[in-house]
Amino acid sequence: MNDQHPQHAKKSLGQHFLRDQSAIRRIAAAVPEGAVAIEIGPGPGAITESLLARVGKLCVIEMDDRFAGHWQAIAEQNPLLSVVHGDVMKELESTVAAVQPQWIAGNLPYNLSGPLTAKLAGYSLSGGMVLMYQREVAERIAAEPGSKVYGGLSVLVRHFYDVKRLLTLPPGAFSPPPKVHSAVILLTAHGRTPACDYEFLQKTVRKGFAHRRKTITNNFRGEISAEQFEAIGIDPRKRPEQLGYDAWVAISKQLFGLN
Ligand code: SAM
Repeated sequence: MNDQHPQHAKKSLGQHFLRDQSAIRRIAAAVPEGAVAIEIGPGPGAITESLLARVGKLCVIEMDDRFAGHWQAIAEQNPLLSVVHGDVMKELESTVAAVQPQWIAGNLPYNLSGPLTAKLAGYSLSGGMVLMYQREVAERIAAEPGSKVYGGLSVLVRHFYDVKRLLTLPPGAFSPPPKVHSAVILLTAHGRTPACDYEFLQKTVRKGFAHRRKTITNNFRGEISAEQFEAIGIDPRKRPEQLGYDAWVAISKQLFGLN
């Protein structure tokens, strides 16, 4: 659609429209042909057009009236497409329940990336997700234990998914260009999630990473003792960023009495 011109971009909605054709192809190609998918924030449709050419069903969630209206008009002619006009933070749960997607894709608005990813990572899709972030956020998501940027999100995304950085893009890949680089993260369902509730895991990492420089014994003071950490095979002197996904699951089970 024509509204791709930078002067039409709304900063408040994090609108930086992707124009790098190779990136568009690679993002769309991550979603298998015939899949049922949701796209978050289609905007003028850089990724949407390519997705529509391959998926079995696509539902787009868009807050901007102009873009939502545009896709609603297309949806009237195209039975593969449906549109949710609203805020993804409010509409995601009901949309996932109604559409039952195998895949979720999106060049996400930067201002929502943290809380939206914490929400997204809680959905166990049979396929996965292909999501664009500002590079620093993507690095946090893909970080391994021991890294300075490893944190709660790095743990949470691993609950249902394997994590891989698919590509990195310079500001010039977008119009208008953002101030920072961007990166695309590919999450693929691994099918080996342990019996641990995602909400419990989320509460556990929130608490455990509350003070990154403190030991886990300090972060869980009054709830898990040093002896209890030792009993579940975790060194109580470790700091949160030193613990891998499995250790966080063990802590969550201890915290919520599931051991
Ligand atoms: N997919 C397009 C592309 O790659 O060129 C646009 C990406 S742009 C970074 C983010 C898109 O998300 C915009 O279309 C914006 O209007 C939409 N958006 C921003 N906040 C939103 C929200 N809370 N709920 C739904 N869509 C939102």
